[in-house]
Amino acid sequence: MSDVEYRPIKRVFVANRGEIAVRVIRSCRDLGIETVLAVSTADRDSVPARLADRTVCIGPPAARASYLNMPSLIAAALGSGCDALHPGYGFLSENPEFAQLCVDNGLTFVGPSPHVVAEAGDKARAREIARSAGIPVLTGSPIVTDVDAASHAAADIGYPVLIKASAGGGGRGMSVVENDAELRARFSAAGSEAQSAFGDGSLFVEKYIRRARHIEVQVLGDRHGAVVQLGERDCTLQRRHQKVIEESPAPGLSADTRSRIRSSGLAFAQAIGLDSAGTVEFIYDADTGDYAFLEFNARIQVEHPVTECVTGTDLVRQQLRSAQGDRLEFGQDDVTTTGHAIEVRITSESPKDGFLPRTGTLTKWHIPDMDGIRVDSQAEEGYVVGPYYDSLLAKVVAYGTDRDDAIAKMLSVLDALKVTGVPTTAEFARFALDHNDFRSAGVSTNWIADTGLPEFLETS
Ligand code: ADP
Ligand code: ADP
Ligand code: MG
Repeated sequence: MSDVEYRPIKRVFVANRGEIAVRVIRSCRDLGIETVLAVSTADRDSVPARLADRTVCIGPPAARASYLNMPSLIAAALGSGCDALHPGYGFLSENPEFAQLCVDNGLTFVGPSPHVVAEAGDKARAREIARSAGIPVLTGSPIVTDVDAASHAAADIGYPVLIKASAGGGGRGMSVVENDAELRARFSAAGSEAQSAFGDGSLFVEKYIRRARHIEVQVLGDRHGAVVQLGERDCTLQRRHQKVIEESPAPGLSADTRSRIRSSGLAFAQAIGLDSAGTVEFIYDADTGDYAFLEFNARIQVEHPVTECVTGTDLVRQQLRSAQGDRLEFGQDDVTTTGHAIEVRITSESPKDGFLPRTGTLTKWHIPDMDGIRVDSQAEEGYVVGPYYDSLLAKVVAYGTDRDDAIAKMLSVLDALKVTGVPTTAEFARFALDHNDFRSAGVSTNWIADTGLPEFLETS
């Protein structure tokens, strides 16, 4: 594999916003790469806009007209003399058509090759790749085209099952059904919802794990065929199938399970031919101790900082280097993990209203500098949380010598944080981190809905 073209990146077009735009600009600067940031009219005066070397307005606030507008983004990237494009996460980051469009226009896509993005975006296909690579996969069906096929598959699998959109993402496109009547009632709406949300109505059914933990493995590859894994993250604390708190390493796993999950992550990355950063997600069944492949995300993950803290790496730097044809800066034997890191997503949501996203203007925004605390954020006083984009304001990461130390550091910073103008998840995160269930690694993905939120509402 020595015929890989080396194309040093001089200027990156950052096709995203918010904290991940800030994060990408930082690694570009470290590598001496110039940045041009795409901004909608709502983001012209944002923190990342001030950090970038220059900005190009790509459209009005609505994402469809700006951060999801492929022709506008490509034209802006080429017009500003960029030779590469970083898609961040969300928006077009997992869109194979967009990855291919970049390549066709001579822009280095800072992510996996378009065919890897395409295979990863199709959950049913990704399950096949995992199965062929000998990785445990949840019992499930291929794509089912009608309700009778779904009903047969579900009867074989055994209820409860999830009806899942193969193109789903962001925690959307999933319905738990307990029996055949529910499946028949739900099926056709699930297809239409998937069609309108993801432009693809394909569905499959999968065994639903009642007491699940979400464990995922960070993987990294280069264009010369090298792949490494950087350990696992536990992202079990979720609301609406979306993560709220993440940590690395995952607590309470046996050494054997930890090592098998990591190996499965690496095997998947090898099987799909990963040539950039990616994340292999697994479901861990807290009742049986078994784990199984869930999906593969062919992009930088929101919670990548916890892995960076415990491994001492810069994953965005590695993405940029792999994209320009460099070899990985380290091999598997060089990857070691030290200490424990926890991330809390501070979002403008009201836990008291079932984590409903809230708009408003930040009248106060203060997170003190503290030892062992990293803050990735685009927020500042006067920042307007509009209705157009997701509700993430900041990722607060605590890094400690062990889990207790990381939790203690996180509790101190959450105590000292001052935000007014919008409700946030900070207070709920404090409650959760201090809870016995969390301390004893006893939470499952339904914990917030079943236990955490009801108790929080009672005590606050
Ligand atoms: P991670 O897996 O990195 O934790 P999330 O599931 O929190 O990522 O998603 C990251 C961001 O991308 C969120 O803003 C989420 O809404 C968005 N997102 C992810 N996948 C999709 C998708 N298929 N369609 C729309 N938005 C998505
Ligand atoms: P997305 O693309 O939206 O991230 P995932 O397949 O990764 O979709 O699932 C998101 C979350 O939904 C998981 O983290 C988990 O909490 C829950 N989930 C998904 N599949 C299952 C399953 N088979 N059993 C139990 N929970 C599941
Ligand atoms: Mg997922």
